[in-house]
Amino acid sequence: MEPSKGWDLPGRILMGPGPSNVSPRVLRAMSMPLVGHLDPSFIQLMEEVKDLLRYVFRTRNEVTIPVSGTGSAGMETCLVNLVEPGDPVLVCVNGLFGQRMCDIVTRVGGELGRLDAEWGSIVDPAQVRKALDRGKVKVVAIVHAETSTGVLQPLEEIGKTVREHGQLLIVDAVTSLGGHPVETDGWRIDACYSGTQKCLSCPPGLSPVTFSDRAMETVRNRRSPVQSWYLDMGLLFKYWGEERAYHHTAPISANYALREALRLIREEGLEARYARHELNQTALVAGLEAMGLELLVAEGYRLWSLTTVKIPEQVSDAAVRGRLLTEYGIEIGGGLGPLKGRVWRIGLMGESSTRNNVMLLLLALDEILRQQGMNVEPGAGTRAAGDVYARHGARDSAA
Ligand SMILES: *Cc1c(COP(=O)(O)O)cnc(C)c1O
Repeated sequence: MEPSKGWDLPGRILMGPGPSNVSPRVLRAMSMPLVGHLDPSFIQLMEEVKDLLRYVFRTRNEVTIPVSGTGSAGMETCLVNLVEPGDPVLVCVNGLFGQRMCDIVTRVGGELGRLDAEWGSIVDPAQVRKALDRGKVKVVAIVHAETSTGVLQPLEEIGKTVREHGQLLIVDAVTSLGGHPVETDGWRIDACYSGTQKCLSCPPGLSPVTFSDRAMETVRNRRSPVQSWYLDMGLLFKYWGEERAYHHTAPISANYALREALRLIREEGLEARYARHELNQTALVAGLEAMGLELLVAEGYRLWSLTTVKIPEQVSDAAVRGRLLTEYGIEIGGGLGPLKGRVWRIGLMGESSTRNNVMLLLLALDEILRQQGMNVEPGAGTRAAGDVYARHGARDSAA
């Protein structure tokens, strides 16, 4: 095969479960010249990244750093540091990422207890309390934004319950951080991780992680060394903290990108950013429902960053996604596990959460679904979404 030349990848509108589109400012930041990983200028940048991460995580935790690796590396970092062989762990499972946490707990040698809920529903905080009243548990792990189903998990009450029982709470905020409020301190989360390529709108490759003082104390008081040398938070923080001791070479350019993506969030402001994610999802949902499509998740528990739509009976999953990609350059996601072939997953994350993207997707679906034989009233989707924006605009100008 001849090697291809030059810039041969197409521009895409990324409206799947991640990655999301990235600002040109972030792409430009990645092309800055390399400096050494202990260069004073890089150390300055590391301090800025930690500060900005504390801003998005809404925390005062000193140990707040980007782990080198994707979101799954953050998941593994939290579990491998806080779980020792034989430790009882309760994992809440209502989708693929809860299952992945179970897999890691087992590999780490933890004693796994599962609290399962249906895919598409939340985990009931009362059930969590019951499970904790019943048995001895050291760590509780739960997903805030389940990207496989589109469910937003309420955490405040669970955080309170876990703290009352004296346990540690690990939260997966990969698809919520930067798009939904994540109150690390306010909800008493002990370890929280995310990924760069979802609502932070940065290329994949880093996993922001924050550990509370209680979590760090647990790490320091371990009976056995952390099973992973690479993800040992004690060692990682010797590099990211005061000591600046070499551990592994930080991915320099990825950190340039992350700082720029976080600066963009700071400039927009978290509250404004949440409001933008909410508005665009509200418009998308209005449009989809006006076209006669049904959502998987009940109102009140839907993510702003990811919407799961049931695929109508007569429509071909692959044909619709294929045409969106080839004719409109739009990527959306298919279903996973038990939802494979049953839902589409539409992401509105970070830079991808725009009015233009919502309107274009609804227009494209209108055309494609009608050609697939679905009975859609022409223009109903974009009209309903347009009404949402118009009402919002009227409210804003009245305020
Ligand atoms: C994407 C995702 C992950 C895994 O992140 P990777 O970057 O793919 O390793 C973990 N949890 C949730 C909820 C996710 O959406």
